[in-house]
Amino acid sequence: MAVVEPVETPAGARRRLRLRNPATLEEIGEIEVSTESDVRAAVERARKSQPGWASLRFEERGRYLRRAVRVLLERQDEFVDAIVRETGKPRAEALAVEILAACDALSFYARRAKRILADRTLPVHLMKTKKLRIAYRPLGVAGIITPWNFPFLLSLNPTVQALMAGNTVVLKPSELTPFSGQLVEKLLEEAGLPEGVFNLVLGDGETGAALVEAGVDKISFTGSVRTGRRVGEACGRNLVPCTLELGGKDPMIVCADADLERAANGAVYGAFSNAGQVCVSTERVYVVDEIHDAFVEKVVAKTAQLRQGAEGEFDVGPMISESQLGIVERHVEDARAKGAQIRSGGRRNPAQAGLFFEPTVLTGVTHEMAIMRDETFGPVLPIMRVRDEDEALRLANDSPYGLNANVWTRDKGKGERMAKALQSGSAVVNDCMLTYGVTESPFGGVKESGVGQVNGEIGLRSFCHAQSILIDRFGAKSEVLWYPYTAKKLGLLRRALRLLYGTPLGRLFS
Ligand code: NAD
Repeated sequence: MAVVEPVETPAGARRRLRLRNPATLEEIGEIEVSTESDVRAAVERARKSQPGWASLRFEERGRYLRRAVRVLLERQDEFVDAIVRETGKPRAEALAVEILAACDALSFYARRAKRILADRTLPVHLMKTKKLRIAYRPLGVAGIITPWNFPFLLSLNPTVQALMAGNTVVLKPSELTPFSGQLVEKLLEEAGLPEGVFNLVLGDGETGAALVEAGVDKISFTGSVRTGRRVGEACGRNLVPCTLELGGKDPMIVCADADLERAANGAVYGAFSNAGQVCVSTERVYVVDEIHDAFVEKVVAKTAQLRQGAEGEFDVGPMISESQLGIVERHVEDARAKGAQIRSGGRRNPAQAGLFFEPTVLTGVTHEMAIMRDETFGPVLPIMRVRDEDEALRLANDSPYGLNANVWTRDKGKGERMAKALQSGSAVVNDCMLTYGVTESPFGGVKESGVGQVNGEIGLRSFCHAQSILIDRFGAKSEVLWYPYTAKKLGLLRRALRLLYGTPLGRLFS
C-alpha cells in the first residue's frame, strides 16, 4: 500500500495527496498540492519582505530564532508526535536528531552569524594605496527543497542559515513528510517571524521543479543524486547558485588495532539508525582479515538484540515507502544470488503490518554486487573481508559517491591519515555519522554526493554573496595605470615587473 497517493478530485480542482503512517499504514491526513502560480506567489511574498528582513540587525533576527527554541522546548512532545506519525521513527531518534539538533542549529546560528558574516578588512599585498573590505550580502530569496528522512531538521536547518544571512525563504518539503514542513511553518509563526519572511509550498516533484524555475536567488537542495542532477541542470540554465546535498554509499574501515567492541556497536548504530535511511548511514564495511570473524560475530549478536516495532520501546522503525523497501529487497536478493551469506534478517518483517525490513547483516559480499555499489538507504550492513588497510582504502574509494566515511583504529594519527586518503566530503575516526550534527563542521559531498556545503561558517556564507569593496585610501589626482600611455610609463612598468617578480626583494612583496 502506497504511503502517499493521489486523492480523486473534481476536474479543474487542485491536486490532493493522501498520506499514511509507514509503520501502521493508517491514514494520517491529506495535503493540497501547490500549483506553479502558488509557488510564484510565495516567491513574490518572500521577495517583498526581503529588504525589510535584511535591514534588521543580526541580534534582531537572532531574537526570533531564540524565541523558536523556547517554543520547541515547550512543545517538544507535540512536535515529536507529528514527526513520528509520518515517519514511524523511534521517539528517541526524533527527539535527538530532529528536535535537539534543531534547537542547536537555531541557537548556534542566532548567536554566531554576526561574527561569521561581519564585514571584514583584508590586507592588500600589492596595491597598498587601496583598502579592501568584504561584505557578506544576502542573496535574496532562497528556495529550499528537502527530503523525508529527517523531515523537520533538514527543512529547518538550511532555513535558519538562510534567514540569519538576511534572505527570505520558500520551503518545499518532501511529499512523503509534508506535515514536518508545516511544523517548521508553525514554529516560525509562533516565534513571531514577520509576514512573508518564511513561506511554505507543499507538493511533489512538480512543485519542487516549479520552485527552481520561479526566479529565486539560490536553491538549497537535499535529496537523491537523480533529482539533484535535474535541479543542478535547471539552476545552471537559470544561472542560479545552488548547493546539492545528495546521496552516499558511506564506507567503514575497521583496522586490526581497532577497539572491536566499540567498532561493532558503531557499525550496528551506523547501519540501522533511522532504519538505515540516513544520508551518512554506514552502507558498507571493510574489515581486515585477522579480525574479520571476531567483528562479524559481535555485529551479528548485537543485531539480534535490536527490537523492531511501531509503538512502545523499539530501536528500528519502518522504511518510508514501498519503493524504498523494494530497493532494499532487490539489493539483498542480488547479493544472495551472487554468493553473499545472510547472517541476520534478510526479509520483510512478517510480524509487522507496516513497511518493515529486518535489520540485515551480509558477509561474503563483493564489489560486483549492487549492495556494495549503489545507495541502499535501508537497514542492511554488508561486511567485506580485506587483506589490509591499503585494500580497504582502495575499495572504499572505488565508488561514484563521496559523502562521509569512518575509520576505526586505536592509532588516532593513522586514523587521521587514512581519513585524508578517503575520497569523501567528511570523515570520522572511531565514530560515525556525526559530521552533519556538529554545527561547526561544514557538510557536503564530493564526486556524485553533491556540490557545495551547508553548515558551519562555509555553509552560512553560502547563503551570501561576498561582495568585495575596494576603497582608494589617499585620493591622488591620477593613478600609474591611468591615461596617457607613454614610452616612459612602459619603461616604468617593465622595471616594476622585473623588481616585483625577478628579484628576491620583490618576491617578498608579491
Ligand atoms: P528525492 O530526490 O526523491 O526528493 C528530494 C526532494 O526533491 C523532495 O522534496 C522532492 O519532492 C523534490 N523533487 C523531486 N523531483 C524534483 C524536481 N524535478 N525538481 C525539484 N525538486 C524535486 O530524494 P528523497 O527520496 O526525498 O531523499 C532521499 C535521498 O536524499 C537519499 O539519496 C539520501 O542520501 C539523500 N539525502 C542527502 C542528504 C545530505 O545532506 N547529503 C541528507 C538527507 C538525504
